Amino acid sequence: MRNVVIIGSGCAGLTAAIYAARANLNPLVIRGHEAGGQLTLTTLVENFPGFPKGVQGPELIERMHEQATEFGAEFMEGNVTRVELSQRPFVLEVHHERLEARTLIIASGATAKLLGLESERKLLGHGVSTCATCDGYFFRGKEVAVVGGGDTAAEDALFLTRYANTVNIVHRRDQLRASKIMQDRLRRNEKIKFIWNSVVDDILDADKREVSGIMLRNIKTEEGTIKPVHGVFIGIGHEPNTSLFCGQLDMDGLGYLITHEGSKTKIPGVFAAGDVQDRVYRQAVTAAGSGCMAAMDAERFLEAEH
Ligand code: NAP
Repeated sequence: MRNVVIIGSGCAGLTAAIYAARANLNPLVIRGHEAGGQLTLTTLVENFPGFPKGVQGPELIERMHEQATEFGAEFMEGNVTRVELSQRPFVLEVHHERLEARTLIIASGATAKLLGLESERKLLGHGVSTCATCDGYFFRGKEVAVVGGGDTAAEDALFLTRYANTVNIVHRRDQLRASKIMQDRLRRNEKIKFIWNSVVDDILDADKREVSGIMLRNIKTEEGTIKPVHGVFIGIGHEPNTSLFCGQLDMDGLGYLITHEGSKTKIPGVFAAGDVQDRVYRQAVTAAGSGCMAAMDAERFLEAEH
């Protein structure tokens, strides 16, 4: 029987682990299928306080992991395949191992949707990015593409105009899904160009480990073209990793967990932190902050029980 089980090992889960471990709760962190979370997919993080020269995303995560281990947090590889929240202690299955927990902190994060191309996977962190605020700076004076037509793509494209010379928005239709105000801003910005009715069939050049262009296909004419760009930002949305909790916890229309009074879910003893419950800010530092809140809420919950 565990006092605290934390699902997820990104910024939120690891911060929760540091706090829970320091409170002598001996937390167990289930690392999950994207161990370390989205920061492990990025390169230099310049906006995490305390690192004036920036810190590599994977290094930041490694340090948090080390810090949590230092205070006694334990880690388990693998994925949670089932949770049972209707009874206490809560029951979890990690592969075929059964665990019991007095409290649960859900920090399973959100996964940026990808196009699903082999070249995209190979070039992630090498010119392909799912986070303009993280990686835009590296494209100063360059030409880039943003894929998507929603608010995420619009926000990414506008942010990228601070650095890039030209930002091409590649959208599969001829109308944006983004809010009107964002569309207006895009159209007013001279650095932004639109490539309508088009999909990215391939990203070049995976063998050289750098982006040199995208292979586009106009879905109306089936015409293929190559557009030279130095960077590709995939802005087709995120999906919160909440499928395990369907029917057990409340979610909003996009599948994000709903929390109240800090990190509480509707089930006493179950808390949520980080991107799994945040569709607005989605920053490393906000995820860390909410991980701290969840650990403190779990600690108070356990204290009140005894
Ligand atoms: P979204 O609204 O679902 O838009 C996703 C976009 O990507 C759509 O234009 C979609 O095309 C396109 N897309 C999806 N899958 C694709 C694929 N496989 N290949 C090519 N294109 C693909 O997602 P979002 O932009 O992340 O926004 C999610 C929610 O968060 C929205 O409610 C949005 O308003 C909100 N949000 C708000 C802000 C803000 O207010 N500042 C910022 C970000 C997000 P189709 O249009 O053809 O479906």
